Amino acid sequence: MPSVLIKNNMREEHLPHIWCPGCGNGVLMRDVASAIDNLGLDHRKVVIVSGIGCSSRAAGYMDFDTIHTTHGRAIPYATGIKLADPELEVIVLTGDGDVSAIGGNHLIHAARRNVGMTVVVFNNNIYGMTGGQYSPTTPRGEYGTTAVYGNIDRAFDIAALAFGAGASYAARGDTYHVEATTYLIQKGILHKGFSIIDCASICPTYYGRKNKKGSAVDMLMRQKTHGVMAEHAEKMTPEQLQDKQVIGVLAHTNYPEFTAEYQKIKDGLRGGKKDGQK
Ligand code: SF4
Repeated sequence: MPSVLIKNNMREEHLPHIWCPGCGNGVLMRDVASAIDNLGLDHRKVVIVSGIGCSSRAAGYMDFDTIHTTHGRAIPYATGIKLADPELEVIVLTGDGDVSAIGGNHLIHAARRNVGMTVVVFNNNIYGMTGGQYSPTTPRGEYGTTAVYGNIDRAFDIAALAFGAGASYAARGDTYHVEATTYLIQKGILHKGFSIIDCASICPTYYGRKNKKGSAVDMLMRQKTHGVMAEHAEKMTPEQLQDKQVIGVLAHTNYPEFTAEYQKIKDGLRGGKKDGQK
């Protein structure tokens, strides 16, 4: 018997999903569905937008108005949808490669504009769907099919990158801390502005095998022991925080949301006012 969560939010006819056993994508998709349910959102007002990659398959499984777009372009599609109807809750599901490599330019400019959308990053530190190439979040020294001698690049901190570019809500979650991550996604949806929740996922098939991380359970347990809630992290020294992933809100500010500002211009023009007139 399918759970209420699946009944309410999933296209059952598209299940079972294609993800590998132990993949973190299903957990994060469930967190998004739980966040929508917990907030009691009108399903007709929710639009899910995804790019390309293993994680972006989630848009096909979720029973909302969904659009599975081209590689790296989920955010521009989401921007168009939000501009067409600012009342919609636009949620972008994307991977680390999709959002910070191919779509990196779109990420920083949507953050800079503070477009009202919630971006949930399924960050597994690798390109899973295309065969294990290293991504902008693969840690230095780790391996991928295109980093057979070890990655020499520094990794992006996606939440910090987006906040630096102007995002008004930036948080970090993971696949182990389900309740906390769901709550962070809820806060992101409620926030009026560009929200990003960078969620550490697990890819046991490519990242795990290439980097000898053990089984999917081992990878999940590592998130348990390395994840620190933000309120605890505040009391820890930089040395104690080395190698740790802080789970919580990185930054939360108030800044005018893009489509609301755009509406003011439209209203002004309708009233016959020109740019700069009060
Ligand atoms: S390749 Fe990795 S990210 Fe893709 S479905 Fe398999 S475990 Fe998940």
